[in-house]
Amino acid sequence: MALTGLQIYKLLPKTNCKECGFPTCLAFAMKLAAKQAELSQCPYISEEAKQALAEASAPPIRLVTVGVGDKKVEVGNETVMFRHEKTFYHPPGLFVRVKDTQPKEEIEAIVSQVAQYSVERVGLTLTFNGIAVENASGDAGTFAACVETVRAKADDYPLILISNDAEAMKAALEKEGGKNPLLYAATPENWEAMAGVAKEHKLPLALRADSDLSSLASLVEQVKGAGVEDLVLDPGKRDPAGTLAVMTQLRRLALKKNFRLLGYPIITFPGEGAETPEEEALIAAQHIAKYSGFIVLDHFDPAVAYPLLTLRLNIYTDPQKPIQVSPGVYEIGKPSPESPLLVTTNFSLTYFSVAGEVDGSGVPSWLLICDSEGMSVLTAWAAGKFDAEKIAKTVKQYGIEEKLKHRKIIIPGFVAVISGELEDELPGWEVMVGPREAVDIPNYLKTVWSPN
Ligand code: SF4
Repeated sequence: MALTGLQIYKLLPKTNCKECGFPTCLAFAMKLAAKQAELSQCPYISEEAKQALAEASAPPIRLVTVGVGDKKVEVGNETVMFRHEKTFYHPPGLFVRVKDTQPKEEIEAIVSQVAQYSVERVGLTLTFNGIAVENASGDAGTFAACVETVRAKADDYPLILISNDAEAMKAALEKEGGKNPLLYAATPENWEAMAGVAKEHKLPLALRADSDLSSLASLVEQVKGAGVEDLVLDPGKRDPAGTLAVMTQLRRLALKKNFRLLGYPIITFPGEGAETPEEEALIAAQHIAKYSGFIVLDHFDPAVAYPLLTLRLNIYTDPQKPIQVSPGVYEIGKPSPESPLLVTTNFSLTYFSVAGEVDGSGVPSWLLICDSEGMSVLTAWAAGKFDAEKIAKTVKQYGIEEKLKHRKIIIPGFVAVISGELEDELPGWEVMVGPREAVDIPNYLKTVWSPN
């Protein structure tokens, strides 16, 4: 049972020393109760109090790691139902499934395609996270050989090993390379043997119970009792409505009811509830938004991968902290003193849209980025973060005048209204009003721009 802020306060030193980063012990207690602070922030808590507070300080959804090194996937530790309440922290891992009944060349081709796929968006490199290998043949040797084939093509990628047979799992682990795969799955029928393998190899284990959440909770209790702590849940539903309902219920039970037995990340298989790859992509998108930790797809297609990765990025971006680029002067191409100077805000999406179009125009340019606290052009203008005074200050701050022979600056078409004010702030400069949309920049630079 979770403790209230006042109950926690009674166990704290009550010296108000502020070392935890909060002004009083009571403020720290309140944050702890709201899961917005870590117990370790107070260096003076007694061992006795620590034990009593363990329940209150433990994350409502356990953090589970699959894989090792830079490519490891960490999911869990979420604290809110809705992204706008705070933020979602750990994006779901996107995996693609291969089966040990597929021809070796086909498996190699899929794994290579997944491992080599990456896209750039707002300055970030987006990729899929790993491969799920299924023991569809039911044969331990075939499964192990398949895992070996996958490892040869994706040496450092996290794996999910799918089999109901503990002996097949052991055989596969011999070829897996000791890189912390997720084992899927322990069921009410095989949990003792699976928990034994997971415990022996210190691996995370997925649990599947199809009938209802009570049986899943009982299974968690049994597997935890056998000494396996890193668990992932599969409540067994596959259709869009069923998965939405059960995953919302799981998140609610973990966060709102503090029901520890179901406070673990969830694994989903969108392809099993879909009739076409398009439907699979739609269900996967739903699972990204609510509330999957590991998403195992049966198809890989770059045309689907890109929107899913973009959606995941958007959902897991802190809504209170837009992705930003550093203010300053950016060179696109190799600009000369006669090249055009464009100005915009430091919202990442704005920067990369403008920079991409300028680059694509083939006209080398200077791009001046104002600190608009990560807001886009119109929002920043409305908030007073991208006005004439701010732009003029940025022009002077980064010494752009020394790089130019001309005195012309191109502002976004959406803020044409500030052109007069900007000319007042920058005496001797000509303010040119550029296009409203980044996509129109190439034509503008080729047909309107002239340094003279
Ligand atoms: S560090 Fe501990 S003792 Fe000091 S104010 Fe914070 S909770 Fe109180």
